[in-house]
Amino acid sequence: MNNQIVFREKTTNISVDNLKLTKKKRLKNKTPNSSKVWKEFLLIIKKTIPNLSYSSWFLPLKPIELNGGELKVLVPNNYFVEWIEQHYNTLINNTVEQILGKDGKLVYIISKDEEDDVLDLFSEQTEKPMVNSKPEETIANNFESNLNSHYKFENYVKGEGNALARAAAIAISENPGETTFNPLFVYGGVGLGKTHLIQATGNTILEKFPAKKIIYISADNFTSQFVESIQTNTTAKFSKRYNSIDVLIIDDIQFLSGREKTQDLLFHIFNNLHQSRKQIILSSDKPPKEIVGMNERLLSRFNWGLTVDVQPPDFETRIAILKNKSDKFGIDLTNEILDLIAYNITSNIRELEGCLIKLLANSSLNSTPVNFELARKTIDEISTTKREVSISIDNITKLVCKEFDVDDNKVREKNRKKEVVLARQVAMYLSKVLTKSSLKTIGLQFGGRDHSTVIHACNNIEKLASKDVSLNKIVSGLRKKLELGV
Ligand code: ADP
Ligand code: MG
Repeated sequence: MNNQIVFREKTTNISVDNLKLTKKKRLKNKTPNSSKVWKEFLLIIKKTIPNLSYSSWFLPLKPIELNGGELKVLVPNNYFVEWIEQHYNTLINNTVEQILGKDGKLVYIISKDEEDDVLDLFSEQTEKPMVNSKPEETIANNFESNLNSHYKFENYVKGEGNALARAAAIAISENPGETTFNPLFVYGGVGLGKTHLIQATGNTILEKFPAKKIIYISADNFTSQFVESIQTNTTAKFSKRYNSIDVLIIDDIQFLSGREKTQDLLFHIFNNLHQSRKQIILSSDKPPKEIVGMNERLLSRFNWGLTVDVQPPDFETRIAILKNKSDKFGIDLTNEILDLIAYNITSNIRELEGCLIKLLANSSLNSTPVNFELARKTIDEISTTKREVSISIDNITKLVCKEFDVDDNKVREKNRKKEVVLARQVAMYLSKVLTKSSLKTIGLQFGGRDHSTVIHACNNIEKLASKDVSLNKIVSGLRKKLELGV
């Protein structure tokens, strides 16, 4: 018997229709037995493990369907599944066997539905776009905004570092396309709330103007969709779709650097939308002028509206965010603990959230209440595992070689084997896009080649990636890993 994890995006044994069910329909479809069986299951678990563990990890799960011996349950997010699998697998297997017999199976389904309010608790940890579960009539024109409806202004804590960006976003949501903030260009470091803010803007617009067509997309996905449209000869359809919308939200626009064709297309879409007073919202990890490999004419347009940064939260904001999140997680933190975390975790909001989750997990694992000592220990654990993100030609080379399964040294020598040449060219391309090194320096690090070889390599990779979806995915994946330090 094996418990199985099913992600909404990667359906395995479930039809897509089923996955897109709204809560109402799901409840209608829910087999009566699933609740009964789940209750029995919980009863046994409750008797076996400490109360806090039970309420942290099992109560948030919800049964959806019982099919033969297979029980499907909704799980708030990936992290949950990992945790449960790691700590309670044997207990779960034994319990499932006890209730459903030897062939019994538990299938985890990661939930993303806005109506799964019981799952709100941990919902904001996920970055994955959620299926838009608006009533059918509002998406009758087949428009999926890709917005994650958990990102709202109500749960976006205001602080000095984000006040201006937030105010601009709210103004836009009241009057999309009609303010001078077009485009709104929000920039700042990782985990500072850019995605949250721009998605909250989209969600609020959709609430106020349900007929508006909104698309939220990451620059990476935008590129992939475009490349795919080239391959399937559907570029015209692709541009038509984007030219017909009311609000275009593109996240992490820096990932477009070096992608000339995609930039050209965006340039035209931008002009069309802007001329027709449609709203454009962009986010980036750096201000426009610092994005290398971006077409000048496109960059200049980024500055047409309002360019605003988000800064790391100050102490008071960190406390406010911790209070807000811990309330949601259902834990009551003393002022002493709040201060301790806010003093120690200073870099960004994602880390503050991560610390709270780890604290909850540690408390559950050790069956101890959340106290000062445990908070101290959790912070220590986080600090020792934290690593500095720095992108050098050296770590680019290592990562690329690992991906292409070639020897680092061969890439640095004059080896002409096909797979080595490809890895070398990708490494050169990423070094040009991601580091400040000159073409000469890059050439020197890859077997003493001159700058024209580096230019040739970069052009070649751009050309190949614009035709080959899988190479495109590999290059974007590597780039993301390097930029986000993951
Ligand atoms: P970025 O896109 O800048 O990397 P995100 O928007 O993904 O950052 O934010 C990281 C996490 O922190 C998300 O879970 C988000 O909901 C949360 N977050 C960010 N800013 C705030 C805020 N001001 N108030 C509450 N939560 C926030
Ligand atoms: Mg983001």
